[in-house]
Amino acid sequence: MKISFSTKITAKGLIAVSADSPGKVNLKRKSFKDAPLFIYKEKSAKEFGSLAIAEAKKLKLNLVEFVESKFDKDLIAEGALLSNYSFDKFLSKKPSKVQTITFIGKGKVKKRDLSGVFLARDLGNLPANHCTPKTLVDTAKEIAKENKLKITVYTKRELEKLGAGALLAVAQGSELEPYLIKLEYKTNSKRNVAIIGKGITYDTGGYSLKPPGSMDGMKHDMSGAAVVLGVMKSLGKPKVNVTAYIPTCENMVSGKATRVGDVVKSLSGKTIEILNTDAEGRLILADAITLAKRDKVTEIIDLATLTGGALVALGTTCAALLSNNDEMAEKLLSKSKKTEEMLWRLPLLSVHKKDLKSKIADIKNIPGHRWAQTIIAALFLEEFVEKTPWVHLDIAGVADKDGESTGFGVRTVLEYLSTEQ
Ligand SMILES: [Zn+2]
Repeated sequence: MKISFSTKITAKGLIAVSADSPGKVNLKRKSFKDAPLFIYKEKSAKEFGSLAIAEAKKLKLNLVEFVESKFDKDLIAEGALLSNYSFDKFLSKKPSKVQTITFIGKGKVKKRDLSGVFLARDLGNLPANHCTPKTLVDTAKEIAKENKLKITVYTKRELEKLGAGALLAVAQGSELEPYLIKLEYKTNSKRNVAIIGKGITYDTGGYSLKPPGSMDGMKHDMSGAAVVLGVMKSLGKPKVNVTAYIPTCENMVSGKATRVGDVVKSLSGKTIEILNTDAEGRLILADAITLAKRDKVTEIIDLATLTGGALVALGTTCAALLSNNDEMAEKLLSKSKKTEEMLWRLPLLSVHKKDLKSKIADIKNIPGHRWAQTIIAALFLEEFVEKTPWVHLDIAGVADKDGESTGFGVRTVLEYLSTEQ
């Protein structure tokens, strides 16, 4: 999409006006009286850009002219670029996109690198027969090459040798090999931030099988991994070390799949009773968290489409944040205000720890009730995180919007990493 400036409205596309400038438009209205007009009355520059593009796409117009307003042009452009994305890889006839946006008036626009967001969306939108654990490995290798990052890929054999029993238990029902991908960005800082993303490329639920209606969209269950890869793609040169961990596999049913009631030994040494095979994300994250801890990371951010409870509590526009560290939580909350990726903090209610007590193993993966799902899933992860400062983002509600992947989280995590010292 081209971004340009002009002193005059051509009225050859959509005219986008925000509430603070309609007077100007009315004055000159007669010169373009038949042109479609989009009037925005809210307060977000990014949303202004985004909604104007959505409207233009609907009307099949390839030009949007933004009439001068008080809004930040960088943010309008960012919203416009994000909104102009569509996933058309498999369509013979590509949908219409906006080719040019023109700002009426003078100025400059600082274009932000959004390639990481688009990568996360592309991966999230790919169906599970096109996006397998191996696809994530190949993508990580490309990013490593492009950005000169160190990459380590643990294969099934290496995971067995290591003892990553929780990840392997989830993967064992699938024909496809599981992996744990590690990407390292090094600088001379004492801090090493781990970013961990859940990479279940398809989730049937396993023997705790999902009903048909809930299985649609399960290709998005690797959105956490996609966000982490997106962050590493657009990482730039932050002042802190960053290590990405992506545990990835499918959760399928077969004669080899995990049964309900099986006990497995995680990488940490803790044994887990698997009482619901659909609570698999926390299992693969547990081993990734343990690996990060062995690498002596100083803090952890994980992103996962973890619980339906996050949707019930916060809907489809806001992700749940849970943390054992107020300072980290506050920082991420404030960054998310800037990126307009809305986060809401839920409490890590330790009273629910008892709900994860198992009679025959150190911990069970699901309580015997349905309450406080999002909190209890986070408490499960905390068992492996222990005292390391940590923020967990449950993105189950926001990873896709009407079936289209959003890349939610890439910009907020990048904003966090780029401003840390
Ligand atoms: Zn599941």
